Amino acid sequence: MHIRRPAAAALSLSLVAALSIGCQGGEPAPAPAGPLPTAGTPAPSSSAPLVPGQDSAGDPYVPGDGNGGYDVRHYSLQLKIVPSDARKALDAVATITAHAQREMTAFNLDLAGLEVSRVEVDGRKADFSHEGEELVVQPSATIAGGGDFTVTVAYSGTPQPVNDPILGRYGWIRTADGVAVACQPSGAHTWFPGNDHPSDKATFDLALTVPQHLTAVTNGESGRKTTRNGLTTTRWKVEQPMAPYLAMLAVGDFEVKEGVTPGGIPILVAVDSSVRSPSVEDFYRVKAQITDEWVKLFGPYPFGSTGGVVDNADVSFALETQSRSIYGDFDPTQTIIAHELAHQWFGDSVSVTQWKDIWLNEGFASYAEWIWGERMGGQGVQSRFDDLYQGTPPTAWQVRTGDPGRDELFNGFAVYDRGAMTLHALRTKIGDDVFFSLLRRWAKDHEYGNATTAQFVALAEGVSGQELSAFFDAWLYQPSRPPR
Ligand SMILES: [Zn+2]
Repeated sequence: MHIRRPAAAALSLSLVAALSIGCQGGEPAPAPAGPLPTAGTPAPSSSAPLVPGQDSAGDPYVPGDGNGGYDVRHYSLQLKIVPSDARKALDAVATITAHAQREMTAFNLDLAGLEVSRVEVDGRKADFSHEGEELVVQPSATIAGGGDFTVTVAYSGTPQPVNDPILGRYGWIRTADGVAVACQPSGAHTWFPGNDHPSDKATFDLALTVPQHLTAVTNGESGRKTTRNGLTTTRWKVEQPMAPYLAMLAVGDFEVKEGVTPGGIPILVAVDSSVRSPSVEDFYRVKAQITDEWVKLFGPYPFGSTGGVVDNADVSFALETQSRSIYGDFDPTQTIIAHELAHQWFGDSVSVTQWKDIWLNEGFASYAEWIWGERMGGQGVQSRFDDLYQGTPPTAWQVRTGDPGRDELFNGFAVYDRGAMTLHALRTKIGDDVFFSLLRRWAKDHEYGNATTAQFVALAEGVSGQELSAFFDAWLYQPSRPPR
């Protein structure tokens, strides 16, 4: 995520703390009141006790997000999207293949709002109740532990954006010609049911059906396109595991450019036709160039394609949605593009296990942004570090980078700048060669997985041969400026 704020160089340092950008974790808008379509709370129909899965992943930053008892392997989403339909912009069927980690007579999916008309488990009708953001499914037969099962959910309605008091609106954002969807941290379950926590990554396929005059873009690679009865369907595959919050959608009137980067990576970019700058050609060229450069620095590109979407969405952020970052209606600088592309390795391929480790995403992407700025002839990384080290007021150092608190998830200094400073201080301590081989090892060892700060510290010690616990403790966990 990149949140627009005044350029660091132009920023009065006394304003840094005041501008700290946080996030409440985003409680999506309450589900509309009204009768539930069917079922109601499952009634115990036999003497067998109900053995439910957990209703939360247990991440204190996002208390209701995620569930327990199963691990999603694959989401297959069939989405008919008519953005202009105020009551039923989305008519969908989600088929989720999951691995049961234990025996369950019931389990939860996250889903905010929307109307569920039918739930099946392994092809058999299941009882369900939908309250708030939890869809509780009670299959007709107990799910055995250790096996896979499939749950199909038919649902419809118009997804509501998440209204975050600090971050603003995100999630399902209506645009003049369509919709733009970006979901960090808690927006995925406003448009599809699932296990909405980054600790449960899965592959996806999507069939997007939209009015014929519109274009739909999502993550991954597109395949067959068919048009019938004024509606066009495109099929997409996301073949590497993806955290639900990294799923994106853009529907509208787009100029699309596809190809292969000079380094050989398939690329697809789209720019809404109402966006004046960048042009689709410039956006394509910069995306391709930086993708190829980051491959040289961070190792093999983790996904099947690269690219991005600039949409006419009234949001002031860009999000590193997997393989296809999405940008609101502002001209993204090269450094912002460099930031979102670095996230493909750091955040998307290597994902957090819990949100408190968000610096593993944002510190790394911010440091990449500094590196790109330096390469473009802008301020050098050492000079940026020095300015921030000298000029940041003591109050800003009180937020702990390695566990900033739920409200400070996107704190511009503590998570982004101090995260980047941590990496720069580490680079200074262990040397360029060891530092960059550490970054490549990190990306390779945890490719497509989840990782923790403790694992990064351990790898840094292993690769460098240095004892670094005091160093990382000072940089990540102390509420004060670390010694140099
Ligand atoms: Zn970011």
